[in-house]
Amino acid sequence: MSKTISIIGSGYSSMVAACCLADKGMDVTIYEKNEMAGGRASKFEDGGFTFDMGPSWYWMPEVFENFFNRFGRTSSDFYELVRLDPGYQVYFQGDESIGIPANKEELFELFESIETGSAAKLEKFLNEAAYKYKVGMEEYVWKPGKSVLEFVDMKVLKSFMKLQMLSSVSTTVKSLFKDKRLQQILEFPVLFLGSMPNRIPALYTLMNHADLSLGTWYPKGGMYKVSEAFYQLALSLGVKFKFNCEITNVKIDNRKITAIESKAESFDTDFVIAGADYQHFDRAVLPSKYSNYSEEYWDSREMAPSSLLFFLGFDKKIDGLEHHNLFFDTDFDTHAKEIYQSPQWPSDPLFYICAPSKTDEGIAPEGYENVFALIPIAPGLKEDKELHDKYLNEIIVRIEKKTGCDIRESLVYQKSFSISDFKSRYNAFKGNAYGLANTLKQTAVLKPKYYNKNLDNLYYTGQLTVPGPGMPPAIISGQLVADEFLKNANFENNGQTIHKDFQRV
Ligand SMILES: Cc1cc2nc3c(=O)[nH]c(=O)nc-3n(C[C@H](O)[C@H](O)[C@H](O)COP(=O)(O)OP(=O)(O)OC[C@H]3O[C@@H](n4cnc5c(N)ncnc54)[C@H](O)[C@@H]3O)c2cc1C
Repeated sequence: MSKTISIIGSGYSSMVAACCLADKGMDVTIYEKNEMAGGRASKFEDGGFTFDMGPSWYWMPEVFENFFNRFGRTSSDFYELVRLDPGYQVYFQGDESIGIPANKEELFELFESIETGSAAKLEKFLNEAAYKYKVGMEEYVWKPGKSVLEFVDMKVLKSFMKLQMLSSVSTTVKSLFKDKRLQQILEFPVLFLGSMPNRIPALYTLMNHADLSLGTWYPKGGMYKVSEAFYQLALSLGVKFKFNCEITNVKIDNRKITAIESKAESFDTDFVIAGADYQHFDRAVLPSKYSNYSEEYWDSREMAPSSLLFFLGFDKKIDGLEHHNLFFDTDFDTHAKEIYQSPQWPSDPLFYICAPSKTDEGIAPEGYENVFALIPIAPGLKEDKELHDKYLNEIIVRIEKKTGCDIRESLVYQKSFSISDFKSRYNAFKGNAYGLANTLKQTAVLKPKYYNKNLDNLYYTGQLTVPGPGMPPAIISGQLVADEFLKNANFENNGQTIHKDFQRV
């Protein structure tokens, strides 16, 4: 008999771990509180529109590809990937907007036209970013973060200084480029890592390689196509799914979880992988004496921002918008302080607009525009409908101002989603959107551990553990935890699976 593995949640990391383990013959079931697979990468359809509810930037396509290749598949078995050109557009203060070309030569020309000498600097900067990306992706990101000893390796140590772990992204960028617009373009990618560019180690300029060299991609049909692909792959490998099944409790015997329980049912299990938000499973599902971390620990973590999201439908095309649009037309420092230093609703926020119907006709009625708006906000804020309406109004005013296109009367669909929705839909700690900030103090061995120290058959995966937030890290997290699990498994006995207990370090 193969052992049963119960995975809580159906986010990317959970489905990825499930595929890897089912592929080795294990009996894997995913328990998901919501009605569909994908976690934060869910979708909904309404009024003729198909809205992605979470991620919209498809970066690091090789991470997705390598995962599919593990099973002899490729992304093209499941969806069509197109590279966006321009990758995105940035609106600055004043009347200016800049589109970031996919072509490198055009990119260098663009930089040079803004600041003399910056093309050569950008080329050098991107070469270094490519080196950091290679070392980061090959040496750092696959470390499970059990112990610092994992990093005691000559290649990694040698690269440590070159990777500028002790400097910040902001220092590096500002030392090379004086023009504020160029600085903003190069600092923007680390916003995905949930903190300010001056608090993120310069190693993460590797994100500029992902952005400007590897490019911005889009799966036709929407980002949910990726969730669907993982779901189909998992089914084909024998993974079972139980939807609308929130796990609220566990039975424990002799340092092991023996069953997981929803309000209605109990499911016996040999092993558990918690892919739901780590803090939720650790503090709200496990009895506190088995939790890995205390309430004080969680309260002292620096969370990545939450988001105020709007799903909007317009009955006309909005000229002037591209697929991805960054509205950096207000003061970033003030907004950043309102997220990180004195958490409050932003007075004059930056925001992001995604108009995927620019690339994809299938996700909106013909001639209509599908628009997703995101304002980063501090997690844990109090909110109400009036506040949401105020920010929607501001977004409309600024889109109209920047594009010169009247859109207010064309708004035919609107829905907001924010902190309380993140809590109720995903059990998200403080209503976070992207997990923990990737600051130096919360990196690698300093992240919440992927195993439970009090229970011998519980692992954790997802954006709150190694390697961090984002779709590619979630895909890596699922493989990392499955591989660690498999290291402790024994495939003797004519292919029957026999597990040893987890080995602790
Ligand atoms: C608005 C937004 C925009 C983003 N944009 C991008 C982007 O552009 N590019 C990018 O790379 N990343 C982006 N991200 C981040 C990315 O989506 C996440 O990092 C990633 O999807 C997290 O995956 P995960 O495996 O940690 O699981 P999650 O997606 O967090 O899924 C966890 C699942 O667990 C379920 N669950 C919770 N509690 C229970 C329970 N008790 N029982 C059963 N199930 C439970 C939840 O319902 C959920 O389905 C974005 C995220 C958000 C929210």
